[in-house]
Amino acid sequence: MKKVTLELLTLARRLGTPSAVWTGAGYSPQAQARLAEYGAEKIYLADSAEVADYVVAPKAELLAHLVAEKSPVAVLVAATAEAKEIAGRLAIKTDSGVLTDVVGIEDGLVADQSIFGGGVNVRSRVTKGIPIIAVRPNATPVEASTGAGTEEQVSFTVSDAAKSARIVERVKEDKGARPELTEAAIVVSGGRGVGSAENFSIIEELADSLGAAVGASRAATDAGWYPHQFQVGQTGKTVSPQLYIAAGISGAIQHRAGMQTAKTILAINKDPEAPIFELADFGVVGDLHQIVPQLTQEVGKRK
Ligand SMILES: Cc1cc2nc3c(=O)[nH]c(=O)nc-3n(C[C@H](O)[C@H](O)[C@H](O)COP(=O)(O)OP(=O)(O)OC[C@H]3O[C@@H](n4cnc5c(N)ncnc54)[C@H](O)[C@@H]3O)c2cc1C
Repeated sequence: MKKVTLELLTLARRLGTPSAVWTGAGYSPQAQARLAEYGAEKIYLADSAEVADYVVAPKAELLAHLVAEKSPVAVLVAATAEAKEIAGRLAIKTDSGVLTDVVGIEDGLVADQSIFGGGVNVRSRVTKGIPIIAVRPNATPVEASTGAGTEEQVSFTVSDAAKSARIVERVKEDKGARPELTEAAIVVSGGRGVGSAENFSIIEELADSLGAAVGASRAATDAGWYPHQFQVGQTGKTVSPQLYIAAGISGAIQHRAGMQTAKTILAINKDPEAPIFELADFGVVGDLHQIVPQLTQEVGKRK
């Protein structure tokens, strides 16, 4: 189960009685226990192949069915590419408003939203239908609070129209030992200042010493120094870790868009005028090739 599911349950508890919806294979007593541990009073189970084996459309139909039957206060989903598409479809089906990239929900279902590539923060409220809110992973500190975890099998029929795109194969991404970029509590990113693909090993070593994920600026991914799936920014991944370390990254607006909601930002840059320092909580002016290995060593000493 992804951490964001537990974050959504934590948020949902503030809004009403939280229920979880399980789609797809893999449901187990452990999954039930974990959902209950984080407050799920009800667990709606829709683990049939009909839902699991097709891309987003059946999941939107499933949620629309549940919304009609249960009239929830709100529907929370993760602000991932897949779930945002589900949210959009669900909004159409239920004639409701949808908010995406939400980083917090206040009383009265007022959502804090990070928009225009993270450049502007706004507070918004859905005024029509059942609010559908896509919340960014890592934006909510997880808190356990036991719920009943009562299971309820959902019986509904997926329409033929929703079955037009079938999943024919699933390939497990080779993630190695590092945490997933968008879910990691710490992200260490390298930019053009890293200088080469080989030099990214110092970024990886620092990340591994901290149990962190590795990210990269577009300059670094475009240069072929690091794979594109690790690009952070407007046209890459959006991350909100507890700690973001930017090494050799200037802090262009498009990069900021993907990382400025990080709780603490540490920048390492040889140029004291680099824009990243405007954003950073801590800054080190100097050559990353010296500083990053020293930092890795210091972290190692404290373990
Ligand atoms: C439509 C669009 C979308 C974009 N999307 C993204 C995106 O998703 N993500 C993204 O990152 N960018 C994106 N960009 C690109 C963005 O504008 C910047 O060009 C890019 O972020 C720059 O990457 P950088 O900071 O690594 O490189 P640079 O801007 O070249 O900065 C390198 C920095 O490293 C420092 N440096 C150099 N050597 C050292 C050293 N030895 N030690 C310490 N510091 C050193 C320099 O002082 C400099 O500040 C996008 C651009 C456009 C137009």
